Amino acid sequence: MPESMIKPRMLIDGELVYASDGTNFPLYNPANRKQIAEVPEATAADTNAAVAAASAAFPSWSALAPSQRGRYLKALAKLIREHKSQLARLDAISMGRPVTEYIDAHTAADHFDHYAEAWPSNQGQASLHTPGHLALTLCLPYGVVAAIIPWNLPLVFLAGKAAPALITGNTVVVKTSEKAPLAAAHVAELIQQAGFPRGVFNVICGHGTPSGATLAAHMDVRVLSFTGSGRTGRLIQEIAARTNLKKVVLELGGKSPALVFEDADIPSAAREAARSIQWNSGQVCMASSRVYVQKSVAPRFLEAYTACLRAVSVGDPTDGSVSHGPQADETQYNFILQYIEDGKQTGELALGGQGKLSTTNGYFIEPTVFVDTPEDARVMKEEIFGPVVSVNTFETEAEVIEKANATEFGLYASVFTKDLDRAVRLAKALDSGYVAINCSSPTVAPDLPFGGYKLSGQGREGWLHSMDNFLETKSVLIRVDGGEHNL
Ligand code: NAD
Repeated sequence: MPESMIKPRMLIDGELVYASDGTNFPLYNPANRKQIAEVPEATAADTNAAVAAASAAFPSWSALAPSQRGRYLKALAKLIREHKSQLARLDAISMGRPVTEYIDAHTAADHFDHYAEAWPSNQGQASLHTPGHLALTLCLPYGVVAAIIPWNLPLVFLAGKAAPALITGNTVVVKTSEKAPLAAAHVAELIQQAGFPRGVFNVICGHGTPSGATLAAHMDVRVLSFTGSGRTGRLIQEIAARTNLKKVVLELGGKSPALVFEDADIPSAAREAARSIQWNSGQVCMASSRVYVQKSVAPRFLEAYTACLRAVSVGDPTDGSVSHGPQADETQYNFILQYIEDGKQTGELALGGQGKLSTTNGYFIEPTVFVDTPEDARVMKEEIFGPVVSVNTFETEAEVIEKANATEFGLYASVFTKDLDRAVRLAKALDSGYVAINCSSPTVAPDLPFGGYKLSGQGREGWLHSMDNFLETKSVLIRVDGGEHNL
């Protein structure tokens, strides 16, 4: 084994550990296909140990004043900021994100900093509406929360789930993705350095089976917050229903439309829509993967749009001049190439269309644009999760609303127009958890709720919303002097 091979560890009950049975799985750099790490595969026993540690830590953690809990979150945020360049490099070599596009460290640190001070908004209600009684609600932690995260923005999801769960008094087990475990494993070390009491915050590595499935079925896990594919989301929901009916929050996939009207600022719409499908090599749940352009401006838009996509600089994601990295791994690469072949049968190729192993021997895919694809084609209906987009035209507002909504997904929609009345009509008409006017993903506002309509998910996350996902509501009725039963 080369000396530089990374050997990350998991954090279970305050200890940095390898898998109890010594099993590892290999991780390859998608930019050059060389092995970079031996990653521990958490066994079912390791997963159960993490849940048991979290369970044991819950009484004392939940008894702390929230401001005391917040101090640990702040300490972790500071460490994450200090380790930003190491974390950027770990994501670059494990899942291919260019270091120039690295946002996870500051976003994750912002989450920990924000929730460290957000606890005063956790309030119940009080009323005297029942004569002779004082009625109250208390918002209380559930106990052990599990978070299962994907690989495309590992620390954004780790922090976006763990921070609100921890500040509200829950203890946490995070299972990272087998495709991008390195940055989170580094954060596991920082959690230990931040001094969290043992068992409060556990981080394990591994595949869906055994560790993910063990968490989904665990009788002591009371909430499971999941971000990932619809296929896995359904499976987790089924397992939860069959076991302890744990609360499940699901953030799933998308097939997001961008609608460009003839009165829009076309160069700006082209830039925004192109960045949306190209950023992170298209591996973003809310990427604008279906673009609808009003016919009168379609040639002008397409020229500006393809020019933006042609301008990306492809190469080694650790290189400071690169903006377009490889896909996360061989599976993703082959999956996307199949869709590109499929797209060639149904639409017309306007740009790209190739895998580029020649770049640095890695899994690079050219930004690829299809035009005039039938609405019922596979590439229009299914999530590709790569830099592949279909651009179709429309004539009327009613027509494009129908086309945009003709999908089982509903995560993020963009509308480009200067007509305010139309913008408001569209914001209401689109079946989507998020509607962006004159901008597109990955832009989001941290204080807005994020989540999907239809198959894109269940529940919402966001700075004003995520704490609710981890709080039970208890009603308390206190009889006071002179009160009697009221039925
Ligand atoms: P995935 O569903 O393959 O994996 C997600 C996580 O689930 C991983 O940690 C994986 O190990 C785990 N898992 C797999 N099988 C499991 C099982 N049987 N039980 C428990 N856990 C299991 O998704 P992915 O490929 O990592 O991520 C890409 C998907 O995530 C895309 O569909 C994308 O749209 C979606 N996503 C959604 C959002 C959102 O906020 N809505 C954000 C990012 C990604």
